[in-house]
Amino acid sequence: MPTVQTARGPVDTAELGPTLMHEHIFVLTPDVQQNYPQEWGSDDERVADAVSRLTELTALGVKTIVDPTVVGLGRYLPRIEKVAAQVDLNIVCATGLYTYDDVPFFFHHRGPALSEALGQEVPDPMVDMFVGDIRDGVAGTSIKAGLLKCAIDHQGMTPGVERVMRAVALAHRETGTPITIHTHPGSQQGLAAKKVLEAEGVDLRRVVLGHSGDTTDADHLSELAEAGFLLGMDRFGINLETTFEARADIVVELCRRGYAESMVLSQDAACYIDWIDPFVMSLLPDWKYTHIHERVLPYLLENGVTQDQIDTMLVHNPRRYFEGASA
Ligand SMILES: [Zn+2]
Repeated sequence: MPTVQTARGPVDTAELGPTLMHEHIFVLTPDVQQNYPQEWGSDDERVADAVSRLTELTALGVKTIVDPTVVGLGRYLPRIEKVAAQVDLNIVCATGLYTYDDVPFFFHHRGPALSEALGQEVPDPMVDMFVGDIRDGVAGTSIKAGLLKCAIDHQGMTPGVERVMRAVALAHRETGTPITIHTHPGSQQGLAAKKVLEAEGVDLRRVVLGHSGDTTDADHLSELAEAGFLLGMDRFGINLETTFEARADIVVELCRRGYAESMVLSQDAACYIDWIDPFVMSLLPDWKYTHIHERVLPYLLENGVTQDQIDTMLVHNPRRYFEGASA
C-alpha cells in the first residue's frame, strides 16, 4: 500500500482525500525573528491561531495540506508537530531549499565548491541532507519529509538555483519522493526547469510547477501539461496584480482543453508570513485557507467545470503524485 509521510506519520495515499497542494503554516525569517521577536509575539498564541484556522478548513472537508516550507522559508518542524497534534488534518512536510539566485552562505564552501581545489568531484552535501529528512526524519522530530522543494524565479537558472535543483533531482531519484517547484510562469521558467530535470532523469509527472496559475497564457500552460508536469493553480486569493476571475478563468479554460488531470489547486496561504507587513495582509482578505471552497469551487462549477474535474484536481491528482513516494 503506497503511503505518504505526514506530520503524524505515514498515511495511505488512498486516505489523502481532498488535498490543497501548496499551503504554508508559518513562513519566517529566523535570523530576524530571533533578534526582533516583537511582531511574532508568543509561540503558544501562534500555534493556537494555526490550529483554529486549520480546523476551519477541515470543516469544509479538506483532509490534507501540503506545506512546502523548507530552508529559506523558516521551516521549524517542532512547531508544526504541535499544530498537527491538535488538528484532524494530514500535513505533508517538505525538504529542500528555497532561493531565487544564490545558495545560502552555509553551502558556499562545501561540496561542489571544493571540487576544483581538491582536484576531484565533491558531492553536494544538500543531497544527503534532503535524503536524510526523507528517510530518517527532520532535526530530531518525528516528522519525515513527504516531498522535495526548490525554486526558480524571474532571475532564471542561476548557478545557485541549478545547484539546488540538481540536488533535489538526485534526492528524488534516490527516494522516489515527488517534487514541487516555485516557478515564475510569466518568464516561462517551467521550460528552464524541464531541461535540468530531464537531464537528471526526473519523471515530470512527479513534479508540480508551482504558481502556474499566476499566468493567463493557456498555450504556455498547455505545453507544460503536455510535457507531463502538474500545474499548481495555487495562489487563489492573492489578487494583487491579477483578479479573482483571471485566476479562476484560466482553470476553466484548461479544463475545457482537457487538462483537469494536469492541475492541482491551492492558495499559498499562511497563518503568519513575516515577509509582508500586516497592513498589506489586511488588503488581501481572500488570501486564506478557506477561499477555494467558499468562492473558487462555486465559480468553477458555474462556469462549466464539472464536479468530476474538481475531484480530479483536488483528490485524484494529488494521490497519483504521491503514489510510489513511500521511500
Ligand atoms: Zn509558497
